Amino acid sequence: MYDLIIIGMGISGISAAIYAHRSGLNVLILEENAPGGTINKIAEIENYPGFNKISGPDLAMNLFNTINDLNIPYKLETVTDVILEEIKTVKTKNNVYQSHNLLIATGRKPRLLPLEHIEEYLGHGISTCALCDGALYKNKDVAVIGGGSSALSEALYLSKIVNKVYLIHRRDEFRGEETLINAVQKSKNITLILNNEITSLIIENAILKGIKLKDQELNIAALFIYIGSDPNTKFLANTALKMEDGYILTNYKGETNIPGVYASGDCTKKEIYQIVNAASEGAIAALNIAQK
Ligand code: NAP
Repeated sequence: MYDLIIIGMGISGISAAIYAHRSGLNVLILEENAPGGTINKIAEIENYPGFNKISGPDLAMNLFNTINDLNIPYKLETVTDVILEEIKTVKTKNNVYQSHNLLIATGRKPRLLPLEHIEEYLGHGISTCALCDGALYKNKDVAVIGGGSSALSEALYLSKIVNKVYLIHRRDEFRGEETLINAVQKSKNITLILNNEITSLIIENAILKGIKLKDQELNIAALFIYIGSDPNTKFLANTALKMEDGYILTNYKGETNIPGVYASGDCTKKEIYQIVNAASEGAIAALNIAQK
């Protein structure tokens, strides 16, 4: 029996684990993929206090090292179901864990374009991670779709590797950070294609060769999709947790509508989705659990 089970080992879950551990709670972290979560897919982070510039995987490794230094137990297992009674039961494929409190910090996953063949070609010309796949397209032409900070920053990252980046956005204004917009506009090998959208993929002999837009075709070796993301909360569908569009509703303490169940980071409904507040929300939830 644990005091606290944290589902998700991104920056929010790790921050919560640090504060819970230092408050004397008996903690277990469960993570389905790599420690660090979404941060692992970010090429360069330039707005996390204390680091002028750090790669996402380096920050993820620093976070993971803290968990190991503190000897906080973790398991790489996918949570399949939870039962949210007075005692919280967390089921994974092979195990069942129990705890007095639960913190859900499962983050979000990238959204895909609703086009034929997209899922089939994921990892074969279609990507949601420039940092993971960019080097495969050295000196080639690629496209990025999206108009938020992710599309802008990853287009900039790719522009240093590939021959040319087409940045395609459905409106003529970006919603991303001003610094990123300025840098994209100054880049010599990013071509902006605004007020446009991808209507289909061009596939020849089972290889992605290009994309069709409303009024033109582009020959590209890869398409990087940055059109937002959806919360990783499907495993909670059978619970009474209050959610909106799949995002968990919490108060300022990180409490959900179910006593003893907390949530923090990108899987919660909020205004600002930044690394810094994901970390802060994890800490706030853990301290509130410790003070109960
Ligand atoms: P986002 O801000 O939600 O932007 C998604 C973009 O995709 C929007 O420009 C949207 O267009 C476009 N889009 C959505 N659905 C589309 C579709 N079906 N077809 C074509 N385009 C579509 O997502 P994000 O860029 O991943 O950022 C997520 C959060 O992380 C944001 O809060 C952001 O501030 C934060 N973030 C911050 C930084 C940083 O601070 N440096 C870096 C990365 C992310 P519209 O604009 O027309 O809606």
